[in-house]
Amino acid sequence: MTVQILDGKATALEVRQRVAAKATNFAQAADVSPGLAVVLVGQDPASQVYVRNKHIATEKAGMRSIIHRMSADSTEEDVIALVRGLNEASAIDGILVQLPLPAHINEHRVINEIHPDKDVDGLTEVNAGRLLLGKEGLAPCTPTGSIILAKQALPDLSGKKAVVVGRSILVGKPLAMLLLAENATVIMAHSRTEDLPAVCRDADILCAAVGRPEMIKGDWVKPGAVVIDVGINRLEAPELGEGKTRLVGDVDYDAAAKVAGAITPVPGGVGPMTIACLLRNTLIAAHRRRGMALDTDF
Ligand code: NDP
Repeated sequence: MTVQILDGKATALEVRQRVAAKATNFAQAADVSPGLAVVLVGQDPASQVYVRNKHIATEKAGMRSIIHRMSADSTEEDVIALVRGLNEASAIDGILVQLPLPAHINEHRVINEIHPDKDVDGLTEVNAGRLLLGKEGLAPCTPTGSIILAKQALPDLSGKKAVVVGRSILVGKPLAMLLLAENATVIMAHSRTEDLPAVCRDADILCAAVGRPEMIKGDWVKPGAVVIDVGINRLEAPELGEGKTRLVGDVDYDAAAKVAGAITPVPGGVGPMTIACLLRNTLIAAHRRRGMALDTDF
């Protein structure tokens, strides 16, 4: 059996194109295009790159992108005041506070100031609660992208055994909730799980969100399973030249690909889906805030 490679780059492009088409329709109906505000505090180089990439992707999708840059010595109250202003701004549909924030600012407090209906990262307690309760809300982007890729291999996840390795608030827990919403039978595994290889081997859908390079071995994968590798780990790669690095996932890709039915590569799997799902959430938020209908089957 040949393994199906779940191409996140191509899928993300498709999602972005559909978002762009729907954003055009939205702008005609609402007389304004969806608007995403990004709050960037300080000069963290990685954050600068992420924010620039999001800005370009948002504008490419025909939406407005507004970046609010604040100095690293801004106070928590300064950042909260900005977020509250954006909550009130009628032309802003989505608010994203780029993490990490400087150490003197309480991230949790700032994130929870975002109006839940503009919380396009899906990180507020209200949206986490809505996800748990099975209510309509905005779900975190990386887990949403993981589900879209899993459904390419298995359009109906209903009744399937899903194992999620990792229980973080950002990835593992919301991914488990989204799988449950798809009627999968979900097991959440973590660092205290006994006999993790055996637990993984039982999975029809095996999701790895651990942050440990190539931890999940080929013989942990059930033959024919769908493997979703969320992990992004940078390893030194002297074989590529001095000082070079390469990205690997949490799954031993070459070994797992020999056994799996479908698998996401790293890079080029779940990673590109995150920004695509951010744009998707912004479009969803823009429609819901105005009571406009949107088919979210994309
Ligand atoms: P966290 O460090 O917050 O969580 C890691 C989880 O893995 C924890 O729940 C931990 O368990 C579990 N874990 C750690 N070691 C083991 C082990 N030996 N066996 C079983 N479980 C273990 O990481 P994140 O969830 O934030 O990220 C996970 C990975 O996903 C990282 O590689 C990150 O870079 C990547 N990522 C990728 C994104 C993308 O866009 N593709 C976006 C976000 C993250 P416990 O709770 O018991 O400690």
